[in-house]
Amino acid sequence: TYALEIEGLLKNYGDGFQALKGIDLRVAEGDFFALLGPNGAGKSTTLGIVSSLVNKTAGKVRVFGHDMDTDLSRAKLSLGVVPQEFNFNQFEKAFDVVTTQAGYYGIPLRQAKASAEKYLKKLGLWDKRDTPARMLSGGMKRRLMIARALVHEPKLLILDEPTAGVDIELRRSMWQFLEDINRQGTTIILTTHYLEEAEALCRNIAIIDRGEIIRNTSKRDLLQQL
Ligand code: ADP
Ligand code: ADP
Repeated sequence: TYALEIEGLLKNYGDGFQALKGIDLRVAEGDFFALLGPNGAGKSTTLGIVSSLVNKTAGKVRVFGHDMDTDLSRAKLSLGVVPQEFNFNQFEKAFDVVTTQAGYYGIPLRQAKASAEKYLKKLGLWDKRDTPARMLSGGMKRRLMIARALVHEPKLLILDEPTAGVDIELRRSMWQFLEDINRQGTTIILTTHYLEEAEALCRNIAIIDRGEIIRNTSKRDLLQQL
């Protein structure tokens, strides 16, 4: 089974704009995969559909074989999502942002707390655990989003432009962190408009432009042909 399978994905927004024109994509379990493309190409729309924040117009999406139309709750359990916008409760403490999310997955409180501790430590946020989320810097908020997305130990982590607006030093430490969890078995998909980021991290790269996948290949082949 694939970590993610997308077949014939179409998205027409309410204004009639065709943002996705029938996308096919397969991401193998264990992969580190980039969806690379310019602004407006349809990256966020694609990830929005996979994370059920955006309704699709047509097509199939399966997460570890679980069809999102018929088996949504199991698909969601396998999936952690880091959207671009900080959509946590800004008034909650960092620690509570993470444990609250665990509650949505029905994780017992003791386990939720242990998991929150593990990921806040790994992401260098443990000394900020009692700080209200709104008081954190942009880079810290970004890392808090990642800790929250991992609290239920998903097998697939999806990040939308994870290092947008992040300084170079933090970008490198986030790359390191993502490489570590990929090595430990988590499949990772990220969107980016930086070739450099896809090149630094990913094994396979799909290029999306104006709602269509125009290339889908290994990084090695892509770089040889550039
Ligand atoms: P859906 O088809 O998923 O219901 P809508 O077309 O209803 O989406 O739009 C959702 C929201 O996004 C609306 O509030 C809309 O105003 C806003 N929106 C419209 N155009 C754009 C755009 N080009 N980029 C981002 N957001 C947009
Ligand atoms: P990317 O993430 O690659 O920058 P998006 O998926 O955000 O691209 O957007 C793809 C296209 O869909 C863009 O042309 C954008 O303006 C349009 N779009 C995004 N959201 C909406 C919306 N809610 N309503 C109408 N058009 C939208």
